[in-house]
Amino acid sequence: MPTHTTEMHTQGNESLPSDPEDEPPSQVRDELSTPIVRLAPRAPRAPASAPSEPEQGSRWRFRGGNSRRQSEPVNAFRKRHFSGVPLSEWNDWHWQVSHRIRSLHQLEQYLQLDASEHDALGANTMLPFAITPYYLALLNATDPRQGLRRTVVSNVSEFERSPGEADDPLAEDSHAVVPGLIHRYPDRVLFLAVDYCTTYCRYCTRSRVVGSNELTAKIERWQLGLDYIRAHREVRDVLISGGDPLSMSDERLDWLLTELRRIPHVEFLRIGTKMPAVLPQRITKPLVTMLRKHHPLWMSLHYIHPDECTTESRTACERLADAGIPLGSQTVLLKGVNDDVHTLQSLIHQLLTMRVRPYYLYQCDPISGSRHFRTSVSKGIELIAQLRGHTTGYAVPTYVIDAPGGGGKIPLGPEYFAGREAGDVLLRNFEGKLYRYPDDGAEPASGAPEVLPPERSHLHLRTVR
Ligand code: SF4
Repeated sequence: MPTHTTEMHTQGNESLPSDPEDEPPSQVRDELSTPIVRLAPRAPRAPASAPSEPEQGSRWRFRGGNSRRQSEPVNAFRKRHFSGVPLSEWNDWHWQVSHRIRSLHQLEQYLQLDASEHDALGANTMLPFAITPYYLALLNATDPRQGLRRTVVSNVSEFERSPGEADDPLAEDSHAVVPGLIHRYPDRVLFLAVDYCTTYCRYCTRSRVVGSNELTAKIERWQLGLDYIRAHREVRDVLISGGDPLSMSDERLDWLLTELRRIPHVEFLRIGTKMPAVLPQRITKPLVTMLRKHHPLWMSLHYIHPDECTTESRTACERLADAGIPLGSQTVLLKGVNDDVHTLQSLIHQLLTMRVRPYYLYQCDPISGSRHFRTSVSKGIELIAQLRGHTTGYAVPTYVIDAPGGGGKIPLGPEYFAGREAGDVLLRNFEGKLYRYPDDGAEPASGAPEVLPPERSHLHLRTVR
């Protein structure tokens, strides 16, 4: 695989996942009411006269008949930079995709770039560069240190490969049973439906492949994966990921979900997506109408910072939740982005109000050029200790390391088990106080009930009631 310092893809390599040759077979295509949309990047529109529009915070109709609310910073950004663009277009996800910012020259129109960003964006990178206009509105135009900005705007640290880093640290390629189908756990598979994303995260675990056109949304490739799943009755759970599966048209995704649903032993489908964070306009009513046909369907979302929890994003999550789709967030722990308890707490609290369960907090994978994003493991454990007991249990994610080499997710956390004494378990609570729990269910070593002498309560343990 290419590395950041040797072989590199050019930034213009990626293509959208809807080529005519990729269309579903004719008998399926005939059932589709809407043609698969083809998109082509265009330059941002020049500012024009301001259109008449509803006041900020009000509701309006946009193409497709959906109502949308707009957050104030996004609205202000649109008025400043895209004032000639009607709200109906701004809130159309196709418009957002076709107006992504994809070059140094384009980005300079919106952000004051520092030398590191400028140099990195001017070079060829393995990972493409693209940001939706909506997500660009969330970035600080003058501060390169802003957490969210660092996650999507390249800087020269991407080109520094550190010891222990690899292009494919999770050894996904070696667990691929057919192109784009990873079978690492006994009963579930990872189906990489497409390698395209609307916005590229600079810490992406799959930076070796996203935007490369290696895993395009071709029916012929998908059929290999479907055949494998059909032949392996132990597969009961399919996670559709990429790239971002919601970058495909509703029809294309519907076709894949339908085919998977037709496999009797597949009990459960999941979709991994960052769309509600980077392009919430993608969560349209027609999309959720289609998705709800395929229950039980769960979604793993990808939020990293409270700045992503905008009105638009909240609306998108409400729409998915109202369609009966359980939502969980997989957050990557990132240095200088979300590695302080106040930021993390703000994020998880907002996610709960958006009906998204903070599910995993990932230690950042050691992909090539990721050192500037990776915290120490002790920092991750410390953060969980600062959350557990101090906030709602549902809000506390499980901190995991995806073991390099393909060992799978391994949970880590503060040590609450303080040992055993006599027949009791000794426990340390979130305040550091010790408690004793009578472990009645365990057989005493001697086979006889154990009597604790009073002098053995030297730990001043409290009884758990
Ligand atoms: S959205 Fe997911 S797959 Fe796409 S670049 Fe970000 S982390 Fe990678």
